[in-house]
Amino acid sequence: MAEQTNVQTNTKQKKRSLQHDLHALWRAVKLTQKLEPKMLPLLACSALCEAANPFVGLYFSARIVDGLLSGAAAETIVPLILWTLGLTLFFHLLGKGLSRAREVVEERLYSRELHLVDAVFLKTDYENLENPRIQNLARDYREGVNMRGANLAYALGDDSLRPLLQGAFTIVFAAVFALPLFFAGGDAAAHPFLAGPGPAILMALAILCSVFLSLFISRRGMQKSWALARGMLRVNRNFQYVVGRLITQYQSGKELRLYREQGLFGRFISRALNTCTDLLKKETGCEARYEGLAAGISALLSGLSYLFVALKALTGAFGAGMVIQYAGAITRFTTGLTDFAGAFSNALEQVPYLEDLYAILDLKPVLYSGTLPVEKRDDNDYVIEFHHVSFRYPGASEWALRDLSMQLKVGKHLAVVGRNGSGKTTFIKLLCRLYDPTEGEITLNGIDIRKYRYEEYLAIFSVVFQDFALFSFPLGQNVAASTAVDEPRAKKCLDEAGFSDRLRTLPKGLATPLYKNFDPDGVEVSGGEAQKIAIARALYKNAPFVVLDEPTAALDPLSEAEIYERFGEMVGDRTAVYISHRLSSCRFCDDIAVFDRGQIVQRGSHETLLSQKGSLYEKLWNAQAQYYATHSKEDEIYLQ
Ligand code: ADP
Repeated sequence: MAEQTNVQTNTKQKKRSLQHDLHALWRAVKLTQKLEPKMLPLLACSALCEAANPFVGLYFSARIVDGLLSGAAAETIVPLILWTLGLTLFFHLLGKGLSRAREVVEERLYSRELHLVDAVFLKTDYENLENPRIQNLARDYREGVNMRGANLAYALGDDSLRPLLQGAFTIVFAAVFALPLFFAGGDAAAHPFLAGPGPAILMALAILCSVFLSLFISRRGMQKSWALARGMLRVNRNFQYVVGRLITQYQSGKELRLYREQGLFGRFISRALNTCTDLLKKETGCEARYEGLAAGISALLSGLSYLFVALKALTGAFGAGMVIQYAGAITRFTTGLTDFAGAFSNALEQVPYLEDLYAILDLKPVLYSGTLPVEKRDDNDYVIEFHHVSFRYPGASEWALRDLSMQLKVGKHLAVVGRNGSGKTTFIKLLCRLYDPTEGEITLNGIDIRKYRYEEYLAIFSVVFQDFALFSFPLGQNVAASTAVDEPRAKKCLDEAGFSDRLRTLPKGLATPLYKNFDPDGVEVSGGEAQKIAIARALYKNAPFVVLDEPTAALDPLSEAEIYERFGEMVGDRTAVYISHRLSSCRFCDDIAVFDRGQIVQRGSHETLLSQKGSLYEKLWNAQAQYYATHSKEDEIYLQ
């Protein structure tokens, strides 16, 4: 896992080309247009409005000053003043209105982006979810969103695309306003050099140099500060894990107190905080250095521009009004340039976060989904067979299953036993097509399961996993796995799973929320109760195959015995696969498969397997029998 994280970090930190970054930003523009078509026009109008406003003042001030100096009548001057006020107010109000509208649209874009990402994770193949690289990617994305506010709306919003456009519009307006200055002649006889094209060419070169320098500096600054920010995210992740999940949650509170781990945690937190502060200092220092450099270039260019305008005015090329217009336009030009470079750098800074988003959106399905429908059969006559199946987890060197061949006989109850890590759960994962075999094939009624429609194939299984999950929704919805709950059926299943006594104590019955995440009236259920609910959910689904992976591990002996007694009744004539460590609990199954190192080493009834002297089953049985023999009478219930 740690290795995977490093691999990913290194790939992300490798130098990215400008073309690649621009491509990523362009994709963000296209995606935004698709998710929220109002966003880009609003940004463009907003930027245009903000950029145009200062030029209104500039244009009219030059005309007003020229009018005043040439002694124009009040009737000429007053309308100019009114136009200035009116247009400035108009642009100001329009800007405010657009900004409000943008806020709403940005919020909508943000939730649509999250929805899109959630939809990917809800639908992606389980194999992707279990993949550490994808887990890491999901965390990177979430942390980018939560801690840095990185999202599409931000990547294209107030810090990047809008000021970028505003800067670009400002540069264009300023260029239009200042253009005549470059062609203004003046008194060539008195000032042959100043009145000639030389100063204009030099000025144009200075502007060009500052454009390239500003862009280069912002890009370098962005690369450095991004690397630091990414480092901070990693530290934050550890910090959040300890503070957000371990310290404040009662589940970890017991160990923390009993093993006196306060010191361990305290030191971890202060180390994380120190690293965060160091990185933050470096990041702000780095930003300040590059911003200072950019501001220095902008100030130098402004100084040069004023000099240029003043010298041109000295040659008598234009009057006082135009000095105001030209000087103002050049100042706006340098501001526009700084804004543009800053926004460009901010936009590029978002690329790594955008890449996380794209990597999620581009997640490919791992499993092939066939087109054959799964035949609906009332007699549950579905035969599943493993043909020389071998399986290796992605990235693993060891085989989890090796050359496994077996048939699940219709209506029979198969128990799967074996030591930890012998491949029992992996066998279930392959059976339920959470993974496909690396070698060999699994067939349903003689046809490779990959050829069936994936959803329909999954529909034939009711599974209670060892690490089953219940959700903070009402009890009934947990059982029905849906908001539409068939209440009598849900109650019957809960009853069959042994939950009816507890159900009677719940004032809201099936409407009782589980856990307190969403509702303070939610109930905390014990591990055993949760397991019963999970069994009820499997019964409610009423699928032809029932798979129970260590279904009673958290149950007390009496509840466990109760479940066994009723197992036959609960499962009925459906085919059942039952994984258990407690061999005594498997005796009621018709057929037992003993797993060892990914293979089936024994198969048969309890009596047959036990009669095979020196076999693994016999060893496991004797080990457990010995263990229980030295324990209390109550434990002997397992051996009955
Ligand atoms: P059992 O259920 O019998 O305890 P499992 O099927 O869980 O055994 O595991 C079989 C082997 O596969 C073990 O060596 C285990 O370490 C490995 N394994 C299980 N899950 C994964 C996984 N997600 N990625 C890599 N290896 C895994």
